Parts: sequence; structure tokens; C-alpha cells
Amino acid sequence: MGNLADNKPHAVLIPYPVQGHINPLIKLAKFLHLRGFYITFVNTEYNHKRLLKSMGPKAFDGLIDFSFETIPDGLTPIDGDGDVSQDIIALCKSIRKNFLHPYRELLSRLHDSATAGLVPPVTCLVSDFCMSFTIQAAEELSLPIVFFSPSNACTFLSGLHVHTLFDQGLIPLKDESYLTNGYLDTKVECIPGLKNFRLKDLPDLIRTTNPNDSVLEFVVEAVGRAHRASAIIFNTSNELESDVMNVLSTMFPCIYAIGPLSSLLYQSPQNHLASLSTNLWKEDITCLDWLESKDPRSVVYVNFGSMTVMTAEKLIEFAWGLANSKQPFLWIIRPDLVIGGSVVLSSEFVNEISDRGLIADWCPQEQVLNHPSIGGFLTHCGWNSTTESICAGVPMLCWPFFTDQPANCRYICNTWEIGIEIDTNVKREEVEKLVNELMVGEKGKKMRQKTIAMQKAALEDTKPGGRSYMNLENVINEVLLKQKQV
Ligand code: UDP
Repeated sequence: MGNLADNKPHAVLIPYPVQGHINPLIKLAKFLHLRGFYITFVNTEYNHKRLLKSMGPKAFDGLIDFSFETIPDGLTPIDGDGDVSQDIIALCKSIRKNFLHPYRELLSRLHDSATAGLVPPVTCLVSDFCMSFTIQAAEELSLPIVFFSPSNACTFLSGLHVHTLFDQGLIPLKDESYLTNGYLDTKVECIPGLKNFRLKDLPDLIRTTNPNDSVLEFVVEAVGRAHRASAIIFNTSNELESDVMNVLSTMFPCIYAIGPLSSLLYQSPQNHLASLSTNLWKEDITCLDWLESKDPRSVVYVNFGSMTVMTAEKLIEFAWGLANSKQPFLWIIRPDLVIGGSVVLSSEFVNEISDRGLIADWCPQEQVLNHPSIGGFLTHCGWNSTTESICAGVPMLCWPFFTDQPANCRYICNTWEIGIEIDTNVKREEVEKLVNELMVGEKGKKMRQKTIAMQKAALEDTKPGGRSYMNLENVINEVLLKQKQV
């Protein structure tokens, strides 16, 4: 630790334990560190082991006033090398049942360390809203707690309106046939703030036939507890989601858009703690050298994030669609992307793309997106990928998979008009056509211009004095620094 006499404020941050939630929270942690906080960042033991495996055992050594702690996740250990995403349903159940106790114990240990003069006393908590059990610990210790949402604000608003959807008889679905019989095209008129949304655009957890669905209950419980948080912050901006943020502001006294965090941190002095990353898979950085050899805006970047899975048949449709488009591409195929194990792409395919395609396991996505040779992004529309693409000024092709991705796709393709959707039942001819539209077509050109305008707006919002920047300053000064010490 640095000089204890500084008596720094001490924030304990805990993400929901998956890649897409850890990444934005670590960005927020870096920003708070820059603003003078001592940081304790809490991962599950499973993820911590993976981080050290992918980044090296010394990855977190030598950081000043920034420490990592772990708590168990209560799940049965996974066989094999463990480099796979955990089962979300099991994780949600375990979080409700098992996490509060070790979290309390951790806070108590930190209290003892503070008494021994090893760390400053804990003064505030920042918790992913999906880890809503933290509210109880905050209340027991009379600590301010900020709930953080790494995804769009629309998902949070939808969570608050699950009961409305039940009351209107829109959910649960009568039976499985409602998933495919056109019912999901029903317009959603009962959630103020959402314009032109259909049931299929809402977070996919509402597509259930079970009124007691455990993941639905998990989210409803989490948003229900948000009223007890000192403030709620979103990795979004008023520019991106003004209608939703306006509605949410009428429901909560302290609710703020502080993003996109990608842009906020990028503008911090020397890109603060840039080398501190949180990849659960080992990055292949040679793809950056490969990109160097390509023309500006000529490469399609393809990545389906950390949790999407697909059948081997679908992967092959994407493969031949990309190959037949004749555009250069960088495709990240995560080792656990294909259901039932890895797929071997045919030698015919490998020969066909040898002069213009590169395939890797995992990459430094933000560096890739910001590389001048990237011209388009074929994405599963995770909220991080969406905002990172906007912050890099790169238009998208969208193949949403689950959770908030349908809503993000709706925003990208309809509200912001910076992307085109690919049918769920993907076919190579469509991929070929849309890749060309994105990279060299008229529509692609217009989408690129709009994305660059959104990139500029994100920079404005997140630079000192910008709206998101000032919102975060407000939360820091009015909530996180209004402390009592543990
Ligand atoms: N990511 C990365 N390299 C990869 C794939 C993903 O660094 O090869 C990062 C990406 O930049 C983003 C996160 O992992 O920050 C994925 O989050 P997102 O919300 O886009 O999707 P999810 O993985 O949660 O479905």
C-alpha cells in the first residue's frame, strides 16, 4: 500500500462473475483509483485462477493501492482445464444462496487489516446490481453502496416492468410454440421509455413459459433491491438512451449514466493502468501485427463475445459467408464457442482464406476495434462490444444471441441505424451479402458516418466537463466520499 497517512477512501468493488461484467467494472475501478481511491476488487476464486492462468501468475503484483481478493462461488468445480464460461442458471442460484456469507467475511477481514494499519478502512461499496445481496452487508455496516449496471439501461427498466408484463398477460408464454409462431413480434406498449420495442427485443429471459423461472426471479429481486442503494450508475450515456434514462430518473432519486466507460478511461491521463487487464482467456496479440499489414478500414472483425455458443452448422455458414465475401477478416473463435466441442474447419476453407483471413482464440478487443485497418464488426451485440464499437467508430453486423443482446441489436439497427441484423437462422449467402454491404456498400458508408458521429458524442460525454463525466464526479463526491468507515 502507498502512504497510509494519506487516509485514502477505500472502495470495494464486486462484479457479477463473468467476463462482460468484470471488464467494465475494472474500468470503473481504474477511474476511481485515478481519483485517489484505494481499490479492493473482488473476483470469484474460479475467475481469479483463470485470470492468473491467462495473464501470468504475477499479473496483479506490484500494483499500488489496488488489490484483488476472492470469494468462493459455491459451484461444483468444472472438469478439464476450466477455461469455459460457467452455467449462468447455476451461478445465479449460487449467488442468491452462497455469496453473502463469504462477502461479509471478506469485509470483516478488511476491517481487521485496516485496524492493523495494512489497508485504509473500507469507506464505500460498489456492486454489480446482479450481486444484489451486497445491499444487506452495506446496510449492516452503514456503508454507502452504489449499484453498477454494466449493460444497457433498457434491461434494468425491463426488469422493473416484469410485473407489468405479467399483469398484461404478455408473459409467461403459453407454451414453447410461442417462441416461433410470431407472438414475439407483439409490440410492447406498456413500458414507458421503450419506443418501437417488440417482445423479442426485450431481454430474452422474459421468453419463458415458467412464471417462477429462476433467472427471471434473480433479476426481479436484483432490480427490486436497487431502491435501497445509495445510487445506481449505468455504463451508458444520455445520448445513447435518453428516453430510458429520463423514465428511470423519475423512479429513482440518484440514477446516472456514466458511460461509455471505454471512452471515459481512454481519455484518462496516460490511459491510467492500461496494462492491467482482466482477460479470462489468453490474448493472442499477433493478430495486431497481422492487422498492420492490411489497408485502412479493409478488415471485418468477427467476435461473438465470451458466452455465445452456436452449432457447428451455423459456424460453417458464417465461415463460408465470410470466405465468399472476399473481404479480409479477423475471426475470434473462442475454444468453447461451438456446442459439443471445437470444430475443425475444412482444408478447402483454410486454403480459400489463406491470403485474407486470420483466426485466433481471443484478442485484445478494444485494441483491435481501434486499429485503423478495421472497417466493420460482426458481433453478437454484447453491450460492451456494442459500446466499444461505437467508441472506435466501427459499424456493425448483428447476430444477437441472448440476455440483453436483442435489445442492443434493436438499438444498433433501428434506433441508431449503425448496423444490420443477420437472421438467427444464419445462411452463408446472407453473410456474404451483408459483409459486402457493410464493408463496401452505400449503406455501410452511411452507417460508418453515423457511427463516427456517435463516437464523437461519446468522447464529448466522457471528457472532463461532459455529461457522463460530471455524473460520475457527482456520484464520487456526493455518495462514495460521504463515508463512514468500517
Ligand atoms: N473481449 C476481448 N477479447 C475477445 C472477446 C471479448 O477482450 O476476444 C472482451 C470485449 O472487449 C468485452 C467483453 O470481452 O469487453 C465481452 O463483453 P460483451 O458485453 O461484449 O459480451 P459477453 O461476453 O458478455 O457476451
